Amino acid sequence: MSTKSYSPPKFLIELLNARSPSGYEDEAHRVIDRYLKPIADKYSKDAMGNRIATINEKGDPVLMLAGHMDELGFIIKYIDKDGFLYFDTIGGHDRIMISGRRVNILTAKGIVKGVTGKRAVHLMNIEDRNKVPNLEAMWIDIGVESKKDALKLVCIGDVATYDHDFEFINGSIGTARAFDNKSGAYVVSETFRRLAKLKQLTAKVVTVTTTQEEIGTRGAITSTYAVNPHIAIAIDVGHATDHPDCDKRKFGETKLGFGPIICRGANINPFVHKLLVSCAKKGKIPYQLEADPRPTGTDARSIQIGRQGVATGLVSIPLRYMHTPSEVVDLKDIENTIKLLVIFAKALKKGQYGHW
Ligand SMILES: [Zn+2]
Repeated sequence: MSTKSYSPPKFLIELLNARSPSGYEDEAHRVIDRYLKPIADKYSKDAMGNRIATINEKGDPVLMLAGHMDELGFIIKYIDKDGFLYFDTIGGHDRIMISGRRVNILTAKGIVKGVTGKRAVHLMNIEDRNKVPNLEAMWIDIGVESKKDALKLVCIGDVATYDHDFEFINGSIGTARAFDNKSGAYVVSETFRRLAKLKQLTAKVVTVTTTQEEIGTRGAITSTYAVNPHIAIAIDVGHATDHPDCDKRKFGETKLGFGPIICRGANINPFVHKLLVSCAKKGKIPYQLEADPRPTGTDARSIQIGRQGVATGLVSIPLRYMHTPSEVVDLKDIENTIKLLVIFAKALKKGQYGHW
């Protein structure tokens, strides 16, 4: 199969390439604003940087679709006298992945290029070779000679991301540094775009591209309060366990290319779960199930207990190698997730609030 057989949606690629570490989501804002603002009945932003788009304002029930647009990154904390930048991590990094990367630093004057350095293997003793380096044993090298020169380019508090934009691997399977969760932000936005073209919609649909999920689902907390939904679906990425190092007995069985993953467990409202499954069947959309006994590690955990409680569902796009610079997703799963949500939104009837 050649990569030419699958043409990727431009909107998705723009979002994947937008750099948006938690708290610094500006580049993603600009993409969302461009695509959603012109077609929304109501469009707003808030103090957290969330983007909130509404159609069918008088509809009932109120359906919130949430996908976080923030991603992992690094924040510059200290610059030494020779101009090397020391950083803290934004979000859950695997430290073994950090060194030897090219990074883009987002500064007031634009992108500054750097690499993540550490001592070469030849210069390590046996013990060091077997260790995962602490953060202070790594730095960002921007090719300057002094702190003074570094400060002409970067400022304390500037953030960086890996320089790994989207690329196809094979067929519809692609890799990017932040499918988590630009793919979910795209899914809710594209679902909104398709719903906006429909006339017969019972529900009020509010799409939120949330901020700061990776550091505690913070944008979801405030936007749930603002939107006050009856029903909500969080869309995030979920672990595909179909690679050589995932024990299915521990992590369940989910595969790339086998459709959206519909979650079940205490974080999930039973009515919402059943309706998602029946919509997938009705639309002949492939789907997979996962079970989670706890609050999930997604926006769904906060949305469900917002205000007086919200009937919440979670739909995940299968992904391999989460939180690494080379996450892998099948773009067909993204399209199938959008199709599922469009059918779900259309299926909601007046007065259906998921109370049980
Ligand atoms: Zn994540």
